[in-house]
Amino acid sequence: MSELTFIRTPYRTTASPDVLVFPGEPGWDAARRAWNLAVDQRPAVVALPETVDDVVAVVEYARELGLRIAVQGTGHGAPGRPLHGTMLVNTSRMTGVEVDARARVARVAAGTIWADVVEAAVPHGLTALHGSAQDVGVVGYSLGGGIGWLARKHGLSSSSVLSAEVVTADGDVVRADPETNPDLFWALRGGGGSFGIVTAVEIALYPVAEAYAGWLVWPIDRAAEVLGAWAAWTKDAPEEVTSVGRLLQIPPIPEMPEPLRGRQVVVVEAAFLGPEAEGRELLRPLRELGPELDTVAMMSAAGLTQLHQDPPGPVPGRGEGWMLDAFDGSAAAALVDAAAMDGTAPLISIEVRHLEGALGRPDPNGGALSHLEAPYAVYSVGMAPSPEAVAAVDGRIADIRRAAGPWLSRSTYFNFAERDADASTLYPGGQYERLVEIRAEVDPDGVFRAKHPLD
Ligand SMILES: Cc1cc2nc3c(=O)[nH]c(=O)nc-3n(C[C@H](O)[C@H](O)[C@H](O)COP(=O)(O)OP(=O)(O)OC[C@H]3O[C@@H](n4cnc5c(N)ncnc54)[C@H](O)[C@@H]3O)c2cc1C
Repeated sequence: MSELTFIRTPYRTTASPDVLVFPGEPGWDAARRAWNLAVDQRPAVVALPETVDDVVAVVEYARELGLRIAVQGTGHGAPGRPLHGTMLVNTSRMTGVEVDARARVARVAAGTIWADVVEAAVPHGLTALHGSAQDVGVVGYSLGGGIGWLARKHGLSSSSVLSAEVVTADGDVVRADPETNPDLFWALRGGGGSFGIVTAVEIALYPVAEAYAGWLVWPIDRAAEVLGAWAAWTKDAPEEVTSVGRLLQIPPIPEMPEPLRGRQVVVVEAAFLGPEAEGRELLRPLRELGPELDTVAMMSAAGLTQLHQDPPGPVPGRGEGWMLDAFDGSAAAALVDAAAMDGTAPLISIEVRHLEGALGRPDPNGGALSHLEAPYAVYSVGMAPSPEAVAAVDGRIADIRRAAGPWLSRSTYFNFAERDADASTLYPGGQYERLVEIRAEVDPDGVFRAKHPLD
C-alpha cells in the first residue's frame, strides 16, 4: 500500500475533531514542523491532542493502524528521522502551569515551555530548573536530564521531577511517582521518551529570586588565554556559580548590540546565586583579564532564561555535544585552534559548560540519570539552511571533536547529543540495562520511537 493510500484511510477515533492532520490537509506543514527547521519530518499523520482523553484516543488509533508513535513538545530535540509509518504526537496544544507556592511545586502540562513556568513561579519568589533557552519544552528537557543556570547548586532538572502522568502504549493513563509505578518513575527521569506519552509533570521549584549574572566579553584573538583562565577559575568555583566559556560568532543583525554585531568574540557567561558583593569578589580574577564588555549585574531570576541569548524562535540549526574528562589551558588552545572562528567559520557558537557540583553527585532521589560523571560538557552549533551548510557545520564539528580527543569522556550527555547516541554511553553503571528491562515491560511492542532509543 502506498503511503498516500494509507494516510487517506478514513479514521475512527474518539479524539476531539481536528486533532489529526494528514498529509496535504490544511495545516499539514505547520503540524509536522519541528522548532529545528533543519529537521524535515514526514510522518504518516500528526496528532495535536488537547486533552489526556485525546492522547488516549490517538494512541489507540495508532495501535489499530499499526503505526509507531513519536512525541514532540517543541521539536528542539527532534531526532531528525523522516518518521515513515509513524504518528507524530505534537503536545504543543497541551499547555498550562499551576503553582503551589507553599509546597514549592508546579504542575506542568506536556507542551509547556520553560518561559511559562518561570513566569508563573517568579511572582512567588520561586523559579524552576530551566535551561538556557526560554522556549525549550519542560517535559522533553527533563526526560533527558537538563542542565541550566541553577544546575551546579540544584542538580539535573530530571531529579526535580516529583511525579508524572503518562499514557502508556496500551492507552492506560498511569501516575508515576516514588510510591506508584516507581520503576517507570525512575526510568522517565533521564531515560527519555521510550516509555509512554507524558501528559503532565509535577516539578520542584526553588526559592531563587535573583542572581548576579551576565557576560564578560573579549576579542577572539584572546580566546585561548581567556578560556584557559576560565578553566583554571572553575576548579575552585563554588556550587552557587554555574558558568560557560564560549566562542561566538555574533550575527550581524540589528537586535545585537552595536559593539558586538557581526564580530567573533570569546565570552564567559556566569550566574551566581548569592549577594552582589560576594559575586564581585568571585569574578575578580576574570575581570582582571580586562573584558571589553561586562554585563554582569544583579538580575531577576526571570532574566536567566535570556542570559545565554539563544534564538528567540525556530531556526535551522545543526549541532552536536559531548563531554570532557578535563578542560585546561591545552584543551582550550586545541579547541580554539580547531574552531578557527575567523569570520568565515560555519559555526556560530562553541560552548564549554562547567558541570560538577550537584551535577557531579548521584542524587539519591534521582532517576536513571541522576548525575553526570564528566566535569565539562561541550556543545557546538551552526546554522544549516542547506545541504552545503550541513556539510560545512558537520565538518567543523568533526574537527573540534578530533582536537578534543585527549580530553574526551566516554560518557555522553543525553540532551546535547543530537545524533542517536549509543545509549549505553548515556548512563553510568547498570542503568542502561535496567532501562531496557523497564521499556520491555511498559512498551513490549516497541511502539514509542524516542530520541536516543533504547532498542
Ligand atoms: C536552543 C537550544 C537550547 C538548549 N539548551 C539546553 C540547556 O540549557 N540545557 C539542556 O540540558 N539542554 C538544552 N537543550 C537541549 C534540549 O534540552 C533537548 O533538545 C530536549 O530534548 C528538548 O526538549 P523539547 O521537549 O523542547 O524538544 P522535543 O524535540 O519536542 O522533544 C525531545 C524528545 O523528548 C521526548 N518527548 C518530548 N515530549 C514528550 C512527552 N510529552 N512524552 C514523551 N516523550 C516526550 C521525545 O523523545 C522527543 O523526541 C537545548 C536545545 C536547543 C535547541
